[in-house]
Amino acid sequence: MRPFTYAAPGTVAATVTALGGAQPGTRILAGGTTLYDLMKLDIETPPAVVDVHRIAELRTIEAGPRELVLGAGARMADVADHPAVKAAYPGLSESLWRAASQQLRTMATVGGNLLQRTRCPYFRNGPEFPCNKRRPGSGCAAVGGHDRTHALLGGSDACVATYAGDFAVMLIALDAVVDVVGPGGERTVPLAGLHVEPGDDPAREHVLAPDELIVRIRVPATPAGRGSTYLKIRDRESYAFALAAAGVGLAVEADGAVGDCRIGLGGVATRPWRAMEAERILIGRPLTPQSARRAGEAAFAEARAGTENGFRIELGVRTVADALRIAGERATR
Ligand SMILES: Cc1cc2nc3c(=O)[nH]c(=O)nc-3n(C[C@H](O)[C@H](O)[C@H](O)COP(=O)(O)OP(=O)(O)OC[C@H]3O[C@@H](n4cnc5c(N)ncnc54)[C@H](O)[C@@H]3O)c2cc1C
Ligand code: SF4
Repeated sequence: MRPFTYAAPGTVAATVTALGGAQPGTRILAGGTTLYDLMKLDIETPPAVVDVHRIAELRTIEAGPRELVLGAGARMADVADHPAVKAAYPGLSESLWRAASQQLRTMATVGGNLLQRTRCPYFRNGPEFPCNKRRPGSGCAAVGGHDRTHALLGGSDACVATYAGDFAVMLIALDAVVDVVGPGGERTVPLAGLHVEPGDDPAREHVLAPDELIVRIRVPATPAGRGSTYLKIRDRESYAFALAAAGVGLAVEADGAVGDCRIGLGGVATRPWRAMEAERILIGRPLTPQSARRAGEAAFAEARAGTENGFRIELGVRTVADALRIAGERATR
């Protein structure tokens, strides 16, 4: 790890001032469970870090009648276990407690979780591999290489790295937004517009400027939130990233027809992915095993397999169908 300077301003206002005057390459530090890893691997080499982990105003969790407001510094474990989150947004709670381990969830923040970086082994395991994300212009070892865990959706010839996080997948399904603040003031970014596909610039992963701080995440309160679930399929049942995941929110009308449907896909795309076409297939009709299967197939209609990851298309289709069944049971309870 290279030497760096450390500052811990005590408030959001002081953090914005510190970021505004910071040297290029300065990073925001929250729980450090991603950032310190990447610094030890020499992938991130910030000259300075600005620590926001202990800022009390970033740690609030408020569940109101219209929306859930999560401070970006709220710990993953605290949000996952919050009674109001479990009751009104069960899929959000599941997306957090099915991520990482209890030790990590106790340290890590929901804001840091959104901006975690890919687990592509070529990216993380060393500079000897071509990697456009790590060394722009060097190529991509995963294209035509070992790509079992790489993306089926949203990839490019330059990069097929999977977005690894779970929480953002459920958030995108529930139409969440993030409020960010920087030296230029505050703005709101929809989750759907926060992360970007690699295109020909894989090093760029989201739309935030380096001096912008996520202060809160807001999730609208909806019937689909109450009927939500996050189903995550992985190589082992704990402490593993998704091979395929679906964050589904459903509302069912009195006549049994689907009134609202939201589907997010995780572990299969280069960014948190919303499967709008699959949603359209279901709205206005009763949910059946056949329609759930059709929705799953629509969600993966544009999937492009590489050399080793093709099995995850059928896995993804079944994951969507199973998540719809679970959400359907919740929505009609
Ligand atoms: C072994 C292991 C297994 C894991 N498994 C999973 C898993 O299954 N599912 C999953 O979703 N995650 C998983 N993770 C990732 C883990 O959840 C993230 O490391 C964690 O959520 C990051 O939060 P943090 O607060 O520690 O962020 P940090 O490491 O402090 O920061 C991460 C990034 O976010 C930026 N950042 C942090 N806070 C802000 C803010 N408020 N505004 C702007 N930028 C900010 C930082 O600059 C940095 O770039 C795993 C991690 C490990 C180490
Ligand atoms: S998939 Fe992306 S992160 Fe992985 S080696 Fe290729 S360019 Fe690098």
